[in-house]
Amino acid sequence: MTTVTSWPCAALHHAELSIRTTMRVGGVAEWLLEPATPEELAKAITAAREQGFVPRILGGGANLIVDDGVLPGVVITTARLQRLFRVDPRSGEELSEGLTDAQTGRVGAIPRDVDLRLVAWAGISLPKIVSTAARLGWRGVEGLVGVPGQVGGGVAMNAGGRWGDFWDVVERVLLIDAEGRMFERTKAESNPSYRNGQLGELVCASAVLKFELDAVAAVKERGREYLLAKNQVQPVTEWSAGCVFKNPPKELAEGRSAGRLVEQCGLKGRTRGDAIVSPLHGNFIVNRGKATAADVLTLIEDVHDRVLEKTGVDLQREVKVWRA
Ligand SMILES: Cc1cc2nc3c(=O)[nH]c(=O)nc-3n(C[C@H](O)[C@H](O)[C@H](O)COP(=O)(O)OP(=O)(O)OC[C@H]3O[C@@H](n4cnc5c(N)ncnc54)[C@H](O)[C@@H]3O)c2cc1C
Repeated sequence: MTTVTSWPCAALHHAELSIRTTMRVGGVAEWLLEPATPEELAKAITAAREQGFVPRILGGGANLIVDDGVLPGVVITTARLQRLFRVDPRSGEELSEGLTDAQTGRVGAIPRDVDLRLVAWAGISLPKIVSTAARLGWRGVEGLVGVPGQVGGGVAMNAGGRWGDFWDVVERVLLIDAEGRMFERTKAESNPSYRNGQLGELVCASAVLKFELDAVAAVKERGREYLLAKNQVQPVTEWSAGCVFKNPPKELAEGRSAGRLVEQCGLKGRTRGDAIVSPLHGNFIVNRGKATAADVLTLIEDVHDRVLEKTGVDLQREVKVWRA
């Protein structure tokens, strides 16, 4: 692997992507750029475009299947965008001093009942947001307990489930367009929908998250309860990319979820190479260790086609796929 200095931030040539996703399949990125600030992120986007590439944005890789082989062009990872702030209660300004992951204990330095907002750069992990809010006794994201990924990916995907969605707590986002221009957009302007933050080609650099005051013990207790429930029905400790398909509209599938449809079609446990439809949850495909992207993608197609054939429901993919 070669590190070059011609990009406006740290960059790796032929960087392995499988280790940067939770499914653990796929090949290498021709270029992997690693900006460490929103400004570097904007410059990285501009630089990639100037080289003729439309950059792909990698968060925690928790809802992503990367193809085998070499992915031409540029992938930009948000992994180094690691700052979490509280809003200064006196000035209303974001605190100028950022708090790194290891320092987030200081997020609690301002009284917990004053300005219930966090400013999170795109690379802060969703579990870090959940645990910080729980420590402060702030309600709003405990339903996302056990959901991997980062703030940027959570915004892009509107991650969530039966206990709420990430955009429930998003007040506004800082976005970057294809020309590297930064601008803010409020939640109302963004109009997020089911598993879709409606970003299009825009890149999320950071988000202002707004919570509601609650008792610390109550927030922690709800988190524990939800995590227990999630762990019982999802293969959370195995390599997967989360839910493969979106749940279909109720009227099209008689209220059945994608997982239930897969199960009813007898497809749980179906395999392709080392990829398997989870015996625990029909909407999860698990890499048992040596699966390739081709195994996973063929199995997804197979499941889709069989569900369509047997039930008439045309399942839409939730996971993103990056083709080589
Ligand atoms: C075990 C497990 C359980 C899960 N449970 C849930 C669940 O309960 N609910 C749920 O909704 N999801 C769930 N997921 C899926 C995943 O956690 C979420 O979709 C999460 O939001 C993905 O975030 P990420 O940072 O990993 O995004 P990635 O997988 O890296 O990217 C996903 C998409 O978002 C885009 N993206 C990423 N960052 C940015 C950015 N900064 N700006 C613009 N676009 C960006 C990428 O280009 C890609 O198109 C689960 C996954 C696993 C493995």
